[in-house]
Amino acid sequence: MIKAAELKAFRTTLEALRSRLRGDVTTMADAALRHSGSDANGDLSRMPIHMADIGSDAYEQEFTLSLMANEEETLELVELALERIKAKKYGTCEECGGVIAKKRLEAIPFAAMCIRCAEKMENGGRPRQPR
Ligand SMILES: [Zn+2]
Repeated sequence: MIKAAELKAFRTTLEALRSRLRGDVTTMADAALRHSGSDANGDLSRMPIHMADIGSDAYEQEFTLSLMANEEETLELVELALERIKAKKYGTCEECGGVIAKKRLEAIPFAAMCIRCAEKMENGGRPRQPR
């Protein structure tokens, strides 16, 4: 079980994440609009983002990229997690009703499923192409 103090810490993290995501969504949309408006023929060699600068750790990179790709989806997950805190269901797997490991919640505070169910879902939902 998650202690009240820990729950409060997770809520703070989630709320911070939520406002950051909300902010980022606006900023990115803003930048995209401005870019296409005034500078559509801009110098591509001066691209501000270099792929090599993005996290070297493979897992972190994957997490960062998926965050960037699905910001609105992530925001939704964060809000659902906050709902679960209110409903006192936070830390319980939505799929099997089991306990979500605290380590997992520390890494992904908006995780709705335990690692086993998440892996099962990933394998079932998006089968990897064998090479
Ligand atoms: Zn589960």
